[in-house]
Amino acid sequence: MESKIEQLRQEAAKAIKDVAGTLNDLNDIRVKYLGKKGELTSILRGMGQLSAEDRPRIGQIVNEARQQLEQLIAEKNQELKAKEMAKRLASEKIDVTLPGRPTNHGHIHPLTVTLMQIKNIFMRMGFSVEEGPEIEKDYYNFEALNLPKDHPARDMQDSFYITEDILMRSQTSPVQARTMEAHEPNSPIRMIAPGRVYRRDDYDATHSPMFTQIEGMVIDKNISFSDLKGTLEDFLRQIFNKDVKVRLRPSFFPFTEPSTEVDISCVMCKGQGCRVCKGTGWLEILGAGMIHPNVLKMSGYDPSKVSGFAFGMGVERITMLKYGIDDLRLFYDNDIRLLEQF
Ligand SMILES: [Zn+2]
Repeated sequence: MESKIEQLRQEAAKAIKDVAGTLNDLNDIRVKYLGKKGELTSILRGMGQLSAEDRPRIGQIVNEARQQLEQLIAEKNQELKAKEMAKRLASEKIDVTLPGRPTNHGHIHPLTVTLMQIKNIFMRMGFSVEEGPEIEKDYYNFEALNLPKDHPARDMQDSFYITEDILMRSQTSPVQARTMEAHEPNSPIRMIAPGRVYRRDDYDATHSPMFTQIEGMVIDKNISFSDLKGTLEDFLRQIFNKDVKVRLRPSFFPFTEPSTEVDISCVMCKGQGCRVCKGTGWLEILGAGMIHPNVLKMSGYDPSKVSGFAFGMGVERITMLKYGIDDLRLFYDNDIRLLEQF
């Protein structure tokens, strides 16, 4: 009897010691020896058959074996738990001393930067931003702007015609007529229209067959030339700097009357005369004028009731002057070295 118990005790102790697996494996061993139907438990159950003098002695040996095994199981339990935790910590380890992986940030193209600034300035003055198609009808590009069929600007040599009546728009001005048509006749309009335009120009430092324009138009009762001047002066001082001087020169455009070229004092030399301003101290920056009565009439507005002004400017030119960029082609070359500066 005693040797049987000792054998079971040794067997169980070895099994507990050798458990390599999980807590579940350990539990299986506990059930096998100490469970309700376990091998040591069944010896305790069979004690009734022993003689009265053997009973306490054997009972004590079984209980000692039991306690020892329970102790071993508890220790093994701790050991396995610690191992599992260590394994988990190792797999979830984060090395906080590793340098971070750099994220590549894109840069906003300089033309977009200028465009955003121009839009912001005009939106603060209450202008809406309108858009029009780049493939435009000859009617909107020229006719609705008071440029009749035989006007020299409509020469096939100067514009990209797709058919006789459809072309790549040569200016953003067609958005003027389209915006007026979208409004009730004679209702007030205050809008700018930015976008790409296309002309048959050679590709050089100051010309490109594709470039960006911003058109502006204000129509309301009693709009006068002084409104035009004040609006453009305000805009130019915000986009360049508050000290910039503005000069108006008489000019001619078919869609405005009177028309004016708007110059600013040279931002490079502050008007002293330099290479950029060709020694004049002035830079030509935009064209403007009071909307021609014919243009208002063509789009259903009544020039006896309302008046307005319009202006147009090149976004590339303004960007070149703002940042001292001397070659237009840099905008389209996609050279990272230029783009990263913005
Ligand atoms: Zn200058």
